[in-house]
Amino acid sequence: MTKGQKLELIQNAIRKAYPKKRLVFSDGSPDANIMIIGEAPGVEEEKQGKPFVGRAGKLLNVTLETLGWKRSDFYISNIVKYRPQDEFGGTLTPTPEEIEKFRPALEKEIAVVDPELIVVLGKISMTGLGIEGSMAANRGKVFEKLGRNILVIYHPAAILRNINLEPLFREDLAKIRELTA
Ligand code: URA
Repeated sequence: MTKGQKLELIQNAIRKAYPKKRLVFSDGSPDANIMIIGEAPGVEEEKQGKPFVGRAGKLLNVTLETLGWKRSDFYISNIVKYRPQDEFGGTLTPTPEEIEKFRPALEKEIAVVDPELIVVLGKISMTGLGIEGSMAANRGKVFEKLGRNILVIYHPAAILRNINLEPLFREDLAKIRELTA
């Protein structure tokens, strides 16, 4: 079975568990040796059915492109595969319970892709992968969890809120090059 077929099985199990949700799975290449993990899709991601295609995603893509990468150099996914919403349709941050529910599927997804390096974007994703501490302390550092090297980077949405963090975001993304073959 190819990686794509194995991922399809995981996705089918998630579809069965959440039949009423508009699910957003991964993008990029399952054969990439770098996996990027965000928290959950937003409005634009839900519309297009792809992770990181809204404002934050565009900032991520542009920064990666200026560092010489293309989207297909990565496998891009989120921990939670639907957009958490309030009763009025507003987007919420995933709860620890939602993260916990998706963790077994995420671990399977990671095992199938088998990346050399995982890049987690933002505090929710970092904590979801079992890394404790603050973003300010952990950014740009590599942690070992699930037997994998995990590089912690600010979420691009945090950069949109505070442009002063942009040089750190770029500096940390540039580390991907040193950390992979
Ligand atoms: N933020 C995320 O964490 N994931 C996306 O896919 C888009 C925005």
